[in-house]
Amino acid sequence: MSNLSRRAMLAAAVAIPTTAATVALTGGIAHAEYSWGRTLEKGMRGDDVAQLQVRVAGWPGYNNILAIDSDFGPATEAAVSRFQEAYGLSQTGIAGPRTFEKIYSIQSADNTPIHFTYAELNKCNSTYGGGKVSATDAKISARRVMWRLEALRHALGDDPITVSSGFRSEACNNAVDGAPDSQHMYGRAADLTGTHSLCTLAKRARYHGFNVILGPGFTGHSDHVHVDIGSYHQWSAPNCF
Ligand code: ZN
Repeated sequence: MSNLSRRAMLAAAVAIPTTAATVALTGGIAHAEYSWGRTLEKGMRGDDVAQLQVRVAGWPGYNNILAIDSDFGPATEAAVSRFQEAYGLSQTGIAGPRTFEKIYSIQSADNTPIHFTYAELNKCNSTYGGGKVSATDAKISARRVMWRLEALRHALGDDPITVSSGFRSEACNNAVDGAPDSQHMYGRAADLTGTHSLCTLAKRARYHGFNVILGPGFTGHSDHVHVDIGSYHQWSAPNCF
């Protein structure tokens, strides 16, 4: 969908609050590129709120995790405000047309952020199958990881971040001697390298919604930084912080 038609639709939708999911055809493959049909602010609930939360969850503030719970509370408002600040918008904490336009500008047709792909987050197989959860659930988690990586990347000046390992099937995890209950098998983890030093990645990741950060000084993590969105909290990169 062109920016113009998207803007026209958004303008129409603001008057009649509905949630609009649009379908764009890209190279013959149908993708449902998500778009919002109403301005969202504190106190509102709905799937459109959850869709917003996925995309701003990389801006929760230091050592915070934004719940993807369809409920636009103070933490979502703060994350929207930080997203707006990071992308040069006025900090209202309200997600309206300008905020949605910015999200569309960094969103691919399959709803992943533009600098990361399902393929990059899965060098193990093409299906996201064979892990500890269904392929569908693994992809949902991988997409949540990607939006947080997009935030981390933007915060570090938009220099490339490389994912050396994302989702792993149980077989792939065994092949690399991964931990027995590795978050990689759930699609919730990414191993990072890139332009920045590993310590820069590990330290900055503390601001972008990762419960687990393992980096230089932690056994087995001298050549990458592991981040994940699992439910327990562990930060260890003794050579960095
Ligand atoms: Zn890892």
